[in-house]
Amino acid sequence: MIGIFGGTFDPIHLGHLRTVLDVQEVLGLETVRFIPSAAPPHRDTPDVSAEQRAAMTRLAIEGQTGFVYDGRELERDGRSYTVLTLESLRKELGGKQPMCLIVGTDAFLGFPSWHRWEELLLLCNVAVMVRPGYHLDPAAFPTGWLSQHLRDAHDWNSTESAGQVVEVPVTQLEISATDIRQRLAAGRNIRYLVPEPVRHYILEQGLYNQL
Ligand code: ATP
Repeated sequence: MIGIFGGTFDPIHLGHLRTVLDVQEVLGLETVRFIPSAAPPHRDTPDVSAEQRAAMTRLAIEGQTGFVYDGRELERDGRSYTVLTLESLRKELGGKQPMCLIVGTDAFLGFPSWHRWEELLLLCNVAVMVRPGYHLDPAAFPTGWLSQHLRDAHDWNSTESAGQVVEVPVTQLEISATDIRQRLAAGRNIRYLVPEPVRHYILEQGLYNQL
C-alpha cells in the first residue's frame, strides 16, 4: 500500500514528519507521497509562494527512505481538490493499487465539506492520525457513515485498494504551522519544531515576516 499525504505545508514541520513516519511503520506503507497543495482555498500566506512551500517539503524529506515528493498539485491549474489528485494517482497507478490517504483528525472531521467528498473512499483508504485536542466524532458525518467504513487495526486489510478508515495512534506533537508562523512573526526561534534544513531555508529566504 502507498500513502498519500497532502497539506499546505506552510511550513512543513516535525508534527507532520514524525506522525507520518509512525503511520508508515504501523501500516507498513511502501512509500508515502508528500503533495503540497497549490491553491489553498482559504489560507494564503501572501509572502510565501507555492514554490517555496514545495522547496521546504523537499528539504524536509530528503534522505528518508520511502518518503517521496510529488508536485502534481502544483503542476495542475485550479484548486487543489484531493479527489482530483486521487483520480490522477489512480490513472497513473491503476485501479488495484492499495492507496491510503493520511490525514490528521482535524482534517478528517472536515471531510464532509470537501469537494465530491463521498467519492474519496471509492478511490482510497484513509488513515487518521489522532492529533492532540481532537477526537473522532461520528456526528461530524452523515449517520452511519463512519461506522460503515471504520476498521479496527486488526481488521485492516492492506491489500484492499480503497474503502477503509483506520485510526492510527501517533506520537502526540502539539506543533502547528500556524504556531510556527506566529513565532517567526514575533521574532522567536523555531529550532526543534522544523527540520534544520527547513529552518535555514526560512531564515535565508526571510519568510513569514520575521522580525
Ligand atoms: P495550519 O496550522 O496552517 O492549519 P497545519 O500545521 O495543520 O497547518 P497542514 O499543512 O494544514 O498543517 O496539515 C496537513 C495535514 O497534517 C493535515 O491532515 C493535518 O491534520 C496534519 N497535521 C498537521 N500537524 C499535525 C500534528 N502535529 N499531528 C498530527 N497531524 C498533523
